[in-house]
Amino acid sequence: MSEVLNVEAIFGENVFNLGTMRERLPKNVYKEVKKVMDQGGELSLATADIVAKAMKDWAVEHGATHYTHWFQPLTGITAEKHDSFIGHPDENGRMLMEFSGKELIKGEPDASSFPSGGLRATFEARGYTAWDITSPAFLKEDATGVILCIPTAFCSYTGEALDKKTPLLRSMEAIGEQALRIVKLFGNTRATKVTASVGPEQEYFLVDRQKYLKREDLIFAGRTLFGAPAPKGQELEDHYFGVIRERVGAFMKDLNIELWKLGVTAKTQHNEAAPAQHELAPIYETANIAVDHNQIIMETMKKLAERHGLRCLLNEKPFAGVNGSGKHNNWSITTDDGMNMLDPGETPNENIQFLLVLACILKAVDIHADLLRQSAADVGNDHRLGANEAPPAIISVFLGEQLEDVVRQLIETGEAKSCLLGGKLMTGVSTLPDLPKDATDRNRTSPFAFTGNKFEFRMVGSADSVASPNITLNAIVAEAFCEAADILEKADDFDMAVHDLIKQYLTEHHRIIFNGNGYSEEWVKEAERRGLPNIKSMIEAAGALTTERTVKLFERFHIFTKAELESREEIEYETYAKSINIEALTMIDMASKQIIPAVIKYSQKLAKTVLDVKAAGVEPVVQADLLSRVNSKLTEMKEALEVLQREEAAAFAMEDVKAQAFRYKDVVVPAMEALRAPADELEMLVDKADWPFPTYGDLMFEV
Ligand code: ADP
Ligand code: MG
Repeated sequence: MSEVLNVEAIFGENVFNLGTMRERLPKNVYKEVKKVMDQGGELSLATADIVAKAMKDWAVEHGATHYTHWFQPLTGITAEKHDSFIGHPDENGRMLMEFSGKELIKGEPDASSFPSGGLRATFEARGYTAWDITSPAFLKEDATGVILCIPTAFCSYTGEALDKKTPLLRSMEAIGEQALRIVKLFGNTRATKVTASVGPEQEYFLVDRQKYLKREDLIFAGRTLFGAPAPKGQELEDHYFGVIRERVGAFMKDLNIELWKLGVTAKTQHNEAAPAQHELAPIYETANIAVDHNQIIMETMKKLAERHGLRCLLNEKPFAGVNGSGKHNNWSITTDDGMNMLDPGETPNENIQFLLVLACILKAVDIHADLLRQSAADVGNDHRLGANEAPPAIISVFLGEQLEDVVRQLIETGEAKSCLLGGKLMTGVSTLPDLPKDATDRNRTSPFAFTGNKFEFRMVGSADSVASPNITLNAIVAEAFCEAADILEKADDFDMAVHDLIKQYLTEHHRIIFNGNGYSEEWVKEAERRGLPNIKSMIEAAGALTTERTVKLFERFHIFTKAELESREEIEYETYAKSINIEALTMIDMASKQIIPAVIKYSQKLAKTVLDVKAAGVEPVVQADLLSRVNSKLTEMKEALEVLQREEAAAFAMEDVKAQAFRYKDVVVPAMEALRAPADELEMLVDKADWPFPTYGDLMFEV
C-alpha cells in the first residue's frame, strides 16, 4: 500500500482557524475576536494589531511572503492583489516583515476595473475591502509562492456592495433574526442565533490539457462551440458511479489533500453521468463559509488539473448532447442549540413548527419564483435549464409522498391526523439485513426538492458562485418568517392562529408543489395552467432583480438597495452580451481559419481522387458523391459564416446594453447555431486526419 496519509493531522493545517488563534493569541484578545465573530461588532485597532501580528507570524512560519484581501467581485470568481510583508529597511539596511491591524481590516483596491453596473458612476471609483472575521484566513500556494488570503467584503466608498459576500452576510443576518422569532414563538428560549447552512455539490469535467489547447472554443469560451457527437455518449449509463480512471483518481487524491489542508471538508467523489464528468461534495457548513469554500474548491480544481496534465471545465455545458454540470445547493437553517428547523421528525404531521416553516418556504418560493430562477442564471446555464437533462426553468417544489400527503390533509380538513411511515425495505435475501426505508423516494427532476432535512436547489450552474442563490433563499424565507411572526406574535390564541396560518399559506401556495416528472412536456403545460413562470434565459430572468416586489424584499432587510439591484441587473445584460460576443468571434475564427481551410484541402484531395480514378477508366461514384456533399455543406457554412459576421458586428455596435443583450440572444445565438450545424455535418464527412482539432470522442473518452 502507498504511504499512510494522516488526514486528521493535515486537516486545516493551512487555515488560521479558531484552534490556531486560541494557541497564538493572548486570552483576552482571543475572547474579543470570538465575541465579534459570534455577535458582530468591531475589533479595536489595538486588538486588530495583535491579531494581524499573530496571523503574519503564523503565515511566515508556513512560508508566506505575501498577503492578499481575497474577495468576490461581480465577476462570479475571486480577486486578489498580493502585497508582500516587506517593511521599510532601517538605516543598516535590515528589514523586518510587518503586517498591521489596519492592513488586516481594510484594503483599498482600485475598484474601477471590476463590474459595477453603473454604481461607480453614481457613487465613487474607490473600493474598499473589509475583513470578514467570520471566514478564516488561509494560505494558498501558487507559482508566486505562499500567500496569506484574508476573506473580505468589497464595497464602494459610500457602502454600496460591489461583491457577492456583503449581501450574503446581510441576508444571513436577516434570516437569522426572523427565524429566531419563529423558534421563540414555539417556546425555545435557549437559542440565541439561527444560521443558514449550505452544502454545494460541485460537478465538473476533466479533459486532457494538450487536447484542450488545440481547441479555441474551450480556451476562449470554456465550452465547445463546434463538435459532432461521438459514436458513444452517456446512453449506457456506465460512467455514473463507474470506476475512477487512474489519471482522474490521481487528480482527485491531490485535490482532496489540498482541500483538507485548507479546511474544506471534501467528502464525496464520484464519476457523473456524462463521460469525463465528475462530482465533489463537501460537508455542509455555514452559508458564508460554504460560499467561500466553494470558490476555493473551484480554484483548486483548476489549479491541480494543470499539474496532472488535465484541464478542468467548470462551464455548465462544455459538450452538446451529454449532461451539463450544475451545483446542487443544499440549504437548511439551524439554531445554535442544535435544532434543524427543516427536520420534520418521525411524524411531521405533529410537528407544528416544522409545518409552519414548510408553509413559509412554499409561500416564499411561490411568490419569488422569478427571483429564485434569476439567482441561478448565468450564461452557460441557459444551455442546461429546460434542456431535458437538468431541472426545467420552471421553479416548483418537490415534497415527496409523505409531506405531500400531510399538506393535502391540512388543506382539505385543516388538520393532519396521520402520516405515511417509512417502514422496512425487504431485500429478500436472508443474509442481507432489511433496511429501514425513507418515507419518500427520491426525485431527480425537481429544481427545488425537499430531501429529508434540507432543501436542494438544483438549478445553480457549475461555474457560478453559490452566493446569489443563498442570498435569495435567505431573503425570501426571512420575509415569509417575518410576516408570519408579525401575525403570530400578536395572536391571542397562538395555537389557533398558527393552525389557521399554516392552512392559509398551504392553500394559497400549493400550486408550487409538483412531485411528477419535471422533464415532461405535460409539466410545461401544467405549470402554465397554474400560472408558474417559465423563464427560459438569463437575460429574461434579469428583470426579476428590479421588480417592485424584489426591491421591497431586499430593502426591507437591508440586503440590497434599489441602486445595487439595478446595477446587478445591468451587469447581467453586460455579461451576457460580452460572453456571447466572445463565443461568436471564436466561432468566426475557428470557422474561417480552421474548419473552412481544412475542408477546402480535403475537397482538393477528393477532387484529385475523382480525376485520378476517372483517368484509370473507372467511374468515381462514391468519391464524386462525397465531393459534392462536402461542397454543398461548405457553401452552407460559408453563407452562415457571413450571416454571423454581419450579425455579430451589428449587435456589437449597439449602445443600449439591455437591447443589445436581447439582440445577442434573439439573433446572434441562432446565427451561431446555423453555423455550427453544417460544420458538425462536415466533421462527419471529412477524413479524421484532416479535421483541424480534437473531436468529442478524443476529448471525452481519452482522458
Ligand atoms: P446527493 O445524494 O443528493 O447527491 P450528496 O451526499 O452528494 O447527496 O450531497 C449532499 C450534500 O448536502 C452534502 O454537501 C451534504 O453535506 C449536504 N447536506 C446534508 N445535510 C444538510 C443540511 N442539513 N443542510 C445543508 N446541507 C446538507
Ligand atoms: Mg451528489
